[in-house]
Amino acid sequence: MNQPGSPRTLPGRDRRAVRHPAPGGTARTGHPRHVLVAGGGIAGLAAATVLAERGVRVTLAEASDRLGGRVAAWPLADGRTMSRGFHAFFRQYYNLRALLRRVDPELAVLTPVEDYPLQRPDGLRDSFTGLPTTPPWSMLEFVRRSPSFTLATLARVNVPAALELLRTRFPGTHAAYDGESAAALLDRLRFPPEARALALEVFARSFFADPREFGAGELVAMFHTYFLGSAEGLLFDVPEDDYDTALWAPLGRHLAGLGVTVRVGAPVTDLAIGADRVTALVSGYPIEADACVLAADPRSARELIAALPDADPAWRDAVAATRNSPPFVVVRLWLERSVDADRLAFLGTTGYGPLDNVSVLERFEAGAATWARTLVARWSSCTPTPAPQRWRPTGPRRTRWPPRSRKSCTGCSPRRAGSPFATGRSWSATTASSSPRSRGRHAPASRLPRPAWCWRATGCGATTPSR
Ligand SMILES: Cc1cc2nc3c(=O)[nH]c(=O)nc-3n(C[C@H](O)[C@H](O)[C@H](O)COP(=O)(O)OP(=O)(O)OC[C@H]3O[C@@H](n4cnc5c(N)ncnc54)[C@H](O)[C@@H]3O)c2cc1C
Repeated sequence: MNQPGSPRTLPGRDRRAVRHPAPGGTARTGHPRHVLVAGGGIAGLAAATVLAERGVRVTLAEASDRLGGRVAAWPLADGRTMSRGFHAFFRQYYNLRALLRRVDPELAVLTPVEDYPLQRPDGLRDSFTGLPTTPPWSMLEFVRRSPSFTLATLARVNVPAALELLRTRFPGTHAAYDGESAAALLDRLRFPPEARALALEVFARSFFADPREFGAGELVAMFHTYFLGSAEGLLFDVPEDDYDTALWAPLGRHLAGLGVTVRVGAPVTDLAIGADRVTALVSGYPIEADACVLAADPRSARELIAALPDADPAWRDAVAATRNSPPFVVVRLWLERSVDADRLAFLGTTGYGPLDNVSVLERFEAGAATWARTLVARWSSCTPTPAPQRWRPTGPRRTRWPPRSRKSCTGCSPRRAGSPFATGRSWSATTASSSPRSRGRHAPASRLPRPAWCWRATGCGATTPSR
């Protein structure tokens, strides 16, 4: 990003992107320093990277079996992979992209998805492709094209209130909307009722929030990030293979190359922070460090901080007050035939209750594509191909899958060795939740649970009710 006096290099297509430098510090530490990073999700990986690049000795301890945290992917018993859901790598995620560039300077591993279509149950669909790049023209053109906005409803919009959205300043904006719900803000704007779900539901789900509880400040922040404050819009990329293969295993190797000790299956417990020392138990063994970066998820961070004897009470209380988002389910369907070619690779939804999107992963992930090709070849050699089912956007109709009369063909070939940062345990079968109860159980291929239903879609797809 741009710095005063530096050559103008843009992080993306937004010509008005501004670099906000981090607080000053030394480029390289002058003294030997050791930092314990607790957590190997994106936050922990980023912290370990920048610390190691500055000459700090880093131990990265990750409790689970692999890196990536909420964006992890893990192998099933037979070479297929599972993850905790579809992730869009939006173009304005400049810091995340800078992290990934450490191992892939051209970001060749990311594949563009050219649209973020939003399907409504009445058959209408919003699209974000081909919009002007300059805000607010991008927003105005979207509204002009969108079937969710009509001239009659737009005429009723409270224009002075809507102009508030253009005056976004962080962190002040969050404070300004404190206590107001997003629903109340939309009421105040006299936002067109037909477009309400579009604004409220899609963005609330991005925060794993119930639309009724979603805050106005967060909604305004989303408008700013994706429409009014950035030329990148709602366009995004996806990794060309599962998250572990494409992103975190290479980054883990990069960290090892920088001298970072990467430990997976290594929970940090019993943290104690002294005046100039941190001690912790990692997998039950004591570790001493000059500092600790706590990059654990909120639940674990709450536990570790609550147990700190000398923690600042205000900080401890603020952390204790954080909540976990509601549970969500990711359904990954391994189907016996290819998805119709005219089905979109990614389809966001609005007005379908908790359903967030339907994605055809074989269009993105190399491993899923290989699996689909292998299985389709085997299937077609052991059963006649049934007539194709077409997907129609008519509502959440359920259909039995597979049809009762059909014999299932469950063969598929192992694809690749797991990440070097994996200990080899995996979650079972075709669905995942955050429940550890399903951990470590493997279903033999012939007994893999086959989904009893699918949305009227075919192929190797995944649905996630949240982003
Ligand atoms: C389905 C889904 C879709 C999403 N889509 C998007 C999206 O499109 N765009 C977007 O911006 N964001 C998205 N998000 C949010 C994004 O994934 C998270 O904000 C991000 O991954 C959080 O990273 P993190 O490193 O802060 O935490 P986490 O990923 O939670 O990582 C924390 C890590 O700490 C480890 N840990 C916990 N306790 C300990 C301990 N005691 N010792 C050691 N390690 C510990 C955990 O095992 C975990 O690996 C999505 C999230 C989900 C679930």
